[in-house]
Amino acid sequence: MTKAPNHESPTGPSGNDDDEDVAAGGRCPICEESVGDCDHLVASIDLTYSEVTAGALFAQERTALDALEQLCSCEPDALKTAGAGPVLEHVATLVRDEIAEGASPGDALSIYTPQILAALSLLLQEDEGVTVTNVDAESSIEHLWAEDPEWTVERLVERLEELVEEVEEGGEEP
Ligand SMILES: [Zn+2]
Repeated sequence: MTKAPNHESPTGPSGNDDDEDVAAGGRCPICEESVGDCDHLVASIDLTYSEVTAGALFAQERTALDALEQLCSCEPDALKTAGAGPVLEHVATLVRDEIAEGASPGDALSIYTPQILAALSLLLQEDEGVTVTNVDAESSIEHLWAEDPEWTVERLVERLEELVEEVEEGGEEP
């Protein structure tokens, strides 16, 4: 009898295991494949670590966040006028208060990165084609799904960039 070394198989991110027990929230509500196995993933957002970990948004994350950070450093009133919606107005108010208390705009934005990520998730969910699932109650990873994730992300980025333009134009008027 040969004694094989007891080697536990690591469950790294490169693992290609389809046999793993996938939590209900980790399955696509459109085609029921697990996360990573289909093309319906708009984004996986880790709300604890404030990062986008997968999905169509992954490639556009910096563009979307740049626009969002710009919007969240605006006057909440200007956002209201531009029709940015209560979610962004709320984050902009938090950022503004932080700056009023002495934080630099950059610091204020990084303090509220979790709120900005949550706003990003909520804005995506406003798209009626988007469905959200949570893996489980303990992890705060949200998966967002849609029939055409690239198009969903493109629309969001366009909307954010339009808002940035609108807010900037509004601010330049005498
Ligand atoms: Zn799918």
